[in-house]
Amino acid sequence: MSRVYLNLGSNMGDSFYYLLNAISKLDKLDMTKVTKVSKFYKTKAWGYKEQNDFINCCVELETKLLPYKLLSEINNIELSLNRIREVHWGPRTIDIDIIFYDNLRIESEKLTVPHKYYKQRNFVLVPLLDIIWDKKQIIKYIDKNSFSELKEYEYSKKIGISACLLGYNVKYNGGNNYTKLYAQTLKLDYLKICPETFGGLSILRVPSEIKGDKVFSKRGEDLSEEFKIGAIKTLERLKKYGVDIIVMKSKSPSCGYGKVYDGTFTEKLIEGNGRTVEFLLENNIKIISY
Ligand code: SF4
Repeated sequence: MSRVYLNLGSNMGDSFYYLLNAISKLDKLDMTKVTKVSKFYKTKAWGYKEQNDFINCCVELETKLLPYKLLSEINNIELSLNRIREVHWGPRTIDIDIIFYDNLRIESEKLTVPHKYYKQRNFVLVPLLDIIWDKKQIIKYIDKNSFSELKEYEYSKKIGISACLLGYNVKYNGGNNYTKLYAQTLKLDYLKICPETFGGLSILRVPSEIKGDKVFSKRGEDLSEEFKIGAIKTLERLKKYGVDIIVMKSKSPSCGYGKVYDGTFTEKLIEGNGRTVEFLLENNIKIISY
């Protein structure tokens, strides 16, 4: 496994949502895990000054992806999060830079590692200091004069999350989908939800899938009403706590976003959203799929 440090930044739209979404997508890459996430920092724009402040953070990855493969996966993540770059160093929804890749030195047209400008950027150095093992290597470059331009950023709302991702045993088989990234690495104020249990289904239940505009259990019972109630109760809970970002377990007939099982119980995925996700999107809740 190689150890890689990245810097992430955003200053367009809901920056915290873009950062969290990018971190989730990095953690879901093949043969890759996000092992540490720094605090978040609000910083003045660097280079082109006529733009909003950035929110930045650094993450540590362990990966078996080689540098250029990782770079191409990072570019895909940026594209999927609508990065628009009209001005060099201008506003963007998400920007992800590779700072270090083990002790490798690469200088090519596509990739320079260590990153060319990391020593001149407090918004890279300060978050790096939160997570890197070799702090001496970083601290000497921090510019104390511009230190005050960097403010710790704390997201003030709760983040909604599928309870099974935090390790709660609410899955149909009594198990969970524990995810270290959310349960341990990221320290956020969570509001946990489980639409299927909110809809009145018991924790040990027969699995269900969406078929057309209905939801059926594997035994053929029509559970559309229970799934509808689960979606309504989830939204009520999010509204009650002022939550507008939620992390949802992928592929589920309630929580899936972008892809769900096709209704044949043969593990075949099709494009589509779970019932709760569909309802939350209609009500302007931002979804992160995990
Ligand atoms: Fe997890 Fe959602 Fe299924 Fe509940 S309904 S077990 S939160 S995926």
